[in-house]
Amino acid sequence: MTGDPHIHVERGVAHAGSALRGLVASTFGLVADAPVEVTTGCGARVPYAMTSTRPESVTCLACREHARREHLRLARQVELLGRTPGAPVSAADAARAARGLRDLAERYAG
Ligand SMILES: [Zn+2]
Repeated sequence: MTGDPHIHVERGVAHAGSALRGLVASTFGLVADAPVEVTTGCGARVPYAMTSTRPESVTCLACREHARREHLRLARQVELLGRTPGAPVSAADAARAARGLRDLAERYAG
């Protein structure tokens, strides 16, 4: 323990996996097994409890910047996927998802 008082984001904050985990948790009321320790966006190892997926709760500036960048990157990927013939999501769904990701990115920037 470093006594670091900041709240960080998990490095993979914008990965589809964590979005899915959140969806599963909210849909079924289950809480997925949280790892004890995670790598953060700023490269630290902190207890999972010291991270948040709520932009307003993240106080580590490096992590906020990381999360903003990651959400914008994922938004672009989702848009590209929506334009790919035979993609598992429609262009409209992809556009909506990308918009949601950009909104989140905006909240990390604020
Ligand atoms: Zn951090």
